[in-house]
Amino acid sequence: MSQTTSAPPTDTPTPAPSSDQPRASGVRGGSRVVILGGGPGGYEAALVAAQLGARVTVVESKGLGGSAVLTDVVPSKTLIATAEWLTVTEYASDLGIRMDGIEPGSRGHFHADLAVVNQRVRALAARQSLDIAQRLEREGIEILDGRGRLGDTISPNGTRRILVDLDDGGSLDLEAEMVLVATGATPRTLPTAEPDGERILTWAQMYSLDELPEHLVVVGSGVTGAEFAGAYNALGADVTLVSSRDRVLPGEDADAAELIEKVFRRRGMNVLSRSRAAAVRRTEDGVEVELTDGRVVEGSHCLVAVGGVPATSDIGLAEAGVELTESGHVVVDRVSRTRAFRVYAAGDCTGVLPLASVAAMQGRIAMWHALGDAVPPLDLDTVAANIFTAPEIATIGVSEADVVEGRTAGAITRLPLARNPRAKMLGITEGFVKMISDPATGTVIGGVVVAPRASELILPITLAVTQRLTVDQLAGAFTIYPSLSGSITEAARTLHISEESS
Ligand SMILES: Cc1cc2nc3c(=O)[nH]c(=O)nc-3n(C[C@H](O)[C@H](O)[C@H](O)COP(=O)(O)OP(=O)(O)OC[C@H]3O[C@@H](n4cnc5c(N)ncnc54)[C@H](O)[C@@H]3O)c2cc1C
Repeated sequence: MSQTTSAPPTDTPTPAPSSDQPRASGVRGGSRVVILGGGPGGYEAALVAAQLGARVTVVESKGLGGSAVLTDVVPSKTLIATAEWLTVTEYASDLGIRMDGIEPGSRGHFHADLAVVNQRVRALAARQSLDIAQRLEREGIEILDGRGRLGDTISPNGTRRILVDLDDGGSLDLEAEMVLVATGATPRTLPTAEPDGERILTWAQMYSLDELPEHLVVVGSGVTGAEFAGAYNALGADVTLVSSRDRVLPGEDADAAELIEKVFRRRGMNVLSRSRAAAVRRTEDGVEVELTDGRVVEGSHCLVAVGGVPATSDIGLAEAGVELTESGHVVVDRVSRTRAFRVYAAGDCTGVLPLASVAAMQGRIAMWHALGDAVPPLDLDTVAANIFTAPEIATIGVSEADVVEGRTAGAITRLPLARNPRAKMLGITEGFVKMISDPATGTVIGGVVVAPRASELILPITLAVTQRLTVDQLAGAFTIYPSLSGSITEAARTLHISEESS
């Protein structure tokens, strides 16, 4: 185990500890680490801290795995797994698949039993939460069911106080050399659209539905809104997607977002662009969504998916010297330090990038740094992200917008999947591979894959970006013939810089 610690990060956000604070790093194993929150930011940090010999306590108020496992990633992707099977049946008849009693070419003969689907979703999430709890226990990590908050004092020997209200009614006063705040975020609600858990719902409440909504109105066309709208449309519900912007998935690759919107409309979804919801109300047998321009959309249920709020209030952060942004996010540097001595933070409560993979990495980095191990600062340029629509959208690195808007120089190529032989065999007609390289060196700097299971296909491009491979090195790899990944090496080949042009 190395003693190396990183230099303070150089780019923003960089709240280096004030000079009168002792450096937290270098505190070795045997230290007591208390982690508030048992989501990916918290439990991955706990595993690292235990591996480095610390005595670790995780305080969790909802269940191990956190929102990621109980309400966000795991349940939504399990629901989407059912939706995905149903979308595949869309082109089954083109492939010569017939169902008894169904006319060739007709659709809609499969349907989802939402009670069974959601039962499976909840069971799988509970199982995953239990698996994580058991793993932590095997590593000797203490788990406290309750809600923790930071005390505002530092003892003369440098330890911090953490006060825990236990679920069973007791309370504890802990001392630790190191604290990690990984309390995540909760769904944002609108005062004019208060969720009631029956008809007006947050994403966390969607898994209690036993019957498919007749008409689901989804407010918000970001990643969560688009994923749920696509999934419920595939499950068989009528769906209206209320999007305040020109197109769905604002901020994502424009070609990918345009394609998804086209697919949504083709599948019968009602996409209302440039439409902002002003209020959502219950009616006798459903909901009505009032738009700011006065129009009213009626539906049976409404999902309000307008982002998250960091869970950072009432846990003593400001009093302990932790700096918060106006939005309530904890300010951290690239090794997850906050402004407060021996207090680190990771995950959605920091607002750095709301992904489970990033939360986990921030948590690990915090513990490597706090306990004096070698630590690479967080590098957001190499984070791969995926939107689980059908088709999926996976992205990595520099975007086309970065190039077009002059932030980075880049050569861009885009290959439609429809030309790929395997795609033809599978009946896939939509999707593409986009690759971006440095025009001077040929290094791969970014990519987008829009395809079924793009989340798996993006890996070679992620490796190329992370390892700074050139397009020629990527193109030199053998791919299976026929395969969708053949389009990735082909895209790399089209970006080859010839001797003459260099
Ligand atoms: C619908 C949806 C789908 C998503 N899908 C994906 C995806 O496919 N892939 C992906 O990478 N990301 C996805 N995300 C994002 C991902 O869920 C978050 O980035 C991730 O959960 C962040 O992890 P975390 O550890 O910061 O917080 P969380 O997972 O929110 O965990 C924080 C935990 O802290 C607990 N807590 C809060 N306050 C206290 C306290 N005072 N004391 C004790 N415990 C406390 C909470 O109960 C919670 O369990 C999705 C998000 C949503 C909303």
